[in-house]
Amino acid sequence: MITMIVNTSVDEVKKRENSLKIIRNIIKTQGRKKLYDLTGLSGGFIADQNDLNLLETYVGPAIFEEELDRLGKEHLGGEKVLAVNRTSSGILATILTLMNPNSYLIHFLPKSPSHPSIIKSVEIAKGKYLEFNNINDFHIVKNTSLIVITGSTMDHEVLDEETFKKIIDNAHKRDIPVFVDDASGARLRTVIYNQKKAIDLGADLVVTSTDKLMPGPRGGLMAGKANLINKIKSTAYQFGLEAQPPSIIAIFNGLKSFKKENLLNSIEKKKSLMDMLNSYSMFEETPTGIMVSEENLKNEVKNCGKIDDKTLSKIEKEISSSDLCFIWALLLLKDEGIITIPAVSMPGASSTIRFDLSSKDAINLNMNSLYEKIDNSFKKLLDTIQDLNKSKEMIYGN
Ligand SMILES: *Cc1c(COP(=O)(O)O)cnc(C)c1O
Repeated sequence: MITMIVNTSVDEVKKRENSLKIIRNIIKTQGRKKLYDLTGLSGGFIADQNDLNLLETYVGPAIFEEELDRLGKEHLGGEKVLAVNRTSSGILATILTLMNPNSYLIHFLPKSPSHPSIIKSVEIAKGKYLEFNNINDFHIVKNTSLIVITGSTMDHEVLDEETFKKIIDNAHKRDIPVFVDDASGARLRTVIYNQKKAIDLGADLVVTSTDKLMPGPRGGLMAGKANLINKIKSTAYQFGLEAQPPSIIAIFNGLKSFKKENLLNSIEKKKSLMDMLNSYSMFEETPTGIMVSEENLKNEVKNCGKIDDKTLSKIEKEISSSDLCFIWALLLLKDEGIITIPAVSMPGASSTIRFDLSSKDAINLNMNSLYEKIDNSFKKLLDTIQDLNKSKEMIYGN
């Protein structure tokens, strides 16, 4: 077996311990302000000690459910809300509740593929599935029990409002309920594209994902007509699809902390940062930031023209593409104070380096200086990887 630098989960733990030591050291010598947590995961579970104390009583869930109803309706519209374990759980509960066996579910989305949970749920409900991407082909067949619209796909293709309304009108003429999968759309469509909430466009039900483009936990939030939500809620309880109190607290706090401005700013920031980085080809955009995959980093190192072929082939034998990510992540941390996931991750996590610009710490970070930090540390990476011992020392410390 060829061994590279980080080979086992024990190695990954050692790498993480080194990163935590560097973080402690920066906090001690320069203060928290010199650290920039750009993982995008730092706000995923907002809860303070009071919230957590309430969890131990029966009072907490009662309070949070009421508060959640108020904030959820503000966010999504509708008469009543329901928190579910994930968006997929909300989709399953809705389809199990509203689909009659052998009837059709018609799904309209701006571009395939659909999220798999919709098709899988139709199979479980013993229904039939029909999908359209083009409004000119769209038609409602006999024996249709539910229409689903995806407002913004997994790849962030967004449906225009006019098509939205046409489909909803068509469905309502036939008394068929409309359910919108607005996992990211509830924020992407409304904040970035200035569209209306799905419920305000006439949909009967909507589900959104509470960790997409907002600082909440992995979870789902539904809203819509009270009589439909009541039925879906009863299905959710029967199958254990409802959100549990700890998630409900974090969903509530995530909604409370959600600010349109952060989302809008992160997109502006992303644009200017991508412009500054245009001499590189490894960066890809995410909804609220940029990222570099293992593969792209490896290609950038190979094709940057700064390392000769002989050295490159030596590096390839000693350093894997995930090692490259780890070395860069550690350089970003140690020299620039930037925390990314590969530096602090648990064994087995993805080694993609993401810079999330909607993170709290990105608010105080000027994009020129972030560009400098990224550019400097990449140059140091090219230097470090030419020396195996230096590379190991970077990952594990000395
Ligand atoms: C992310 C996403 C889902 C699933 O969300 P989970 O919370 O992971 O279940 C469903 N539909 C769309 C369009 C999505 O983008």
